[in-house]
Amino acid sequence: MKSLWSDREAQQYEGDLGLRVYTSRLLGRDPSLVLHGGGNTSVKVRETNLVGEPEDILYVKGSGWDLATIEEAGFAPVRIPHLLKLAKLESLSDPQMVNELKTQMTRASAPSPSVETILHATLPYKYVDHTHADAVVSVTNAANGLERIQEIFGDRVVIIPYIMPGFDLARLCAQRFAAEATEKTVGMVLMNHGIFSFGATARESYERMIELVSLVEDYLQQQGAAIAVPEITPEDKTLRYDLATLRHQLSQAANAPLILATHRTAKTLGFARRDDLETLSQQGPATPDHVIRTKRLPLLGQDITAYTEAYQDYFKAHADDDLTMLDPVPRVILDPELGLCAVGKTAKQAAIVADIYDHTIDVISAATALGGYQALSAKDIFAVEYWVLEQAKLRRGGEPPVFAGEVALVTGAASGIGKACVDALLQRGAAVVGLDINPEIEKLYSRQDFCGITCDVTDEQAILNALERAIRQFGGVDMLVLNAGIFPGGCAIADLSSDEWRKVMSVNLDANLIFLRECHPFLKLAPNGGRVAIIGSKNVPAPGPGAAAYSASKAALNQLARVAALEWGKDGIRINTLHPNAVFDTGLWTEEVLQSRAKHYGLTVEEYKTNNLLKVQVTSQTVAELAAEMCGPLFASTTAAQVPVDGGNERTV
Ligand SMILES: [Zn+2]
Repeated sequence: MKSLWSDREAQQYEGDLGLRVYTSRLLGRDPSLVLHGGGNTSVKVRETNLVGEPEDILYVKGSGWDLATIEEAGFAPVRIPHLLKLAKLESLSDPQMVNELKTQMTRASAPSPSVETILHATLPYKYVDHTHADAVVSVTNAANGLERIQEIFGDRVVIIPYIMPGFDLARLCAQRFAAEATEKTVGMVLMNHGIFSFGATARESYERMIELVSLVEDYLQQQGAAIAVPEITPEDKTLRYDLATLRHQLSQAANAPLILATHRTAKTLGFARRDDLETLSQQGPATPDHVIRTKRLPLLGQDITAYTEAYQDYFKAHADDDLTMLDPVPRVILDPELGLCAVGKTAKQAAIVADIYDHTIDVISAATALGGYQALSAKDIFAVEYWVLEQAKLRRGGEPPVFAGEVALVTGAASGIGKACVDALLQRGAAVVGLDINPEIEKLYSRQDFCGITCDVTDEQAILNALERAIRQFGGVDMLVLNAGIFPGGCAIADLSSDEWRKVMSVNLDANLIFLRECHPFLKLAPNGGRVAIIGSKNVPAPGPGAAAYSASKAALNQLARVAALEWGKDGIRINTLHPNAVFDTGLWTEEVLQSRAKHYGLTVEEYKTNNLLKVQVTSQTVAELAAEMCGPLFASTTAAQVPVDGGNERTV
């Protein structure tokens, strides 16, 4: 591991806190040091308050911030003298600690200080860095971990036996550190948890972290334990039906829709097919705070009932007083066919789970090579899993959005109404798969809850491939928005070629039959019931001259949707149609076309755009919001509806 410090980069950061931001980000850049909100850092500074008094302040990472992206606002300023007094108390309950930390802040709008704040305050160094480095937890979780850590570091670190994070840990560290630190001490190892480094400058503290972790990496290398997972090349397989069924069962057990993200790679398959998988995987996480993301144990295979029963037993065995059980559903699934599946209430959570377990595989493999992986006891892990301060981290998001855990697929999603539908669904918390013939779709959004796939909807195999990919990514299709369509320039029937007719039919009609037919098994498995929103057209009730192919294709699609509503009601699938008209903010309508059409009718562009009963402009967003609402609870009792979204049209009222 190399120091990423650069004088040039460092110059862009000002002052003690600025450099604290810089080296925190350097730590955050390396996922083998910290992952997703893990680890924390601090700096001690003297400031003058409003009434002119000097104060010693600890700027410590705030809860909810990630080291990789932290800013100055992400550090909570807490008065040091009070923290030092707290550290001397015999005991301090969690609610008391939270209260004391909050009420000693000098900026009311700062985030809640890290649960490790008191520990940071007690270490007599300006800068303090804390990570859960993979290499370190590989050794502390290995057989004879303590002796190995002593052998690696000698007197350079103080070693703290495992104790749950929070006040007791801070108190123990303060005592041990005072008793054991020498002038050679540059760090502190927390068994089964992680490592601290410290220094007089941001650079010194950071580079000591790198140096200490590198020593452990070298040790692992010497011991031949450096991360060796047998890799198995994934063979091609159709998994979408199995995965959607598995996700359905998981969602039922959790009583809420869940995202199931499949990571079927050479590494995960190699791990999931190890003969000793049961021994390796059924011990616990690499560092305790992973438990709130991954739960204590992965499910091996696909027996969800057995897992939830075992989870209930674990809860009963360790819970006291009035704890409420969390959902008993696994977050990590290891299966010889599927590799690693990550489960989450959102696509983002599932991605975090997958990242953490990917590192856990490295840690377990290395510790196993050192003679055996030994995680903390179920009791210790339970204490962290049900620790109010950890659970508070997960709850910070507030109420889940209406489509949390659900998956929507939108066709023709790169622009216009399709893109607006993607936005409306993302905004309501769905994970969205966007399909489009335009490859730009793949770059539409770079976020974990969006997957853009280039797909020519006239190619049946391309649709099947896209569905396979979508379901590997998110676990199902709960909502289908059929939007892709073409509107060729006006053409009288007398001049309409068979080729043109067939082209329009294949995109506007045939492709939608394939989507409906192929998605039916998944819509049927949707935890909240399947929903289809069809972007029809005003041309269905009121066709226009010169648009024979378009009008006929949309009318046929309309009949197809009505029959689907008849056939699928028993499966709990709702299918509703929108009939938009004159949506001008799409690629079709350039300023030039608009002007020529307006002129044709003797109107200004503005008049032409609002040429409807209500004199309103109908936008892609107007249509998309209705499509999304049609998938929501407002339309829970509605199927086979045809709703105009056209500002009112004389020909269709
Ligand atoms: Zn920690």
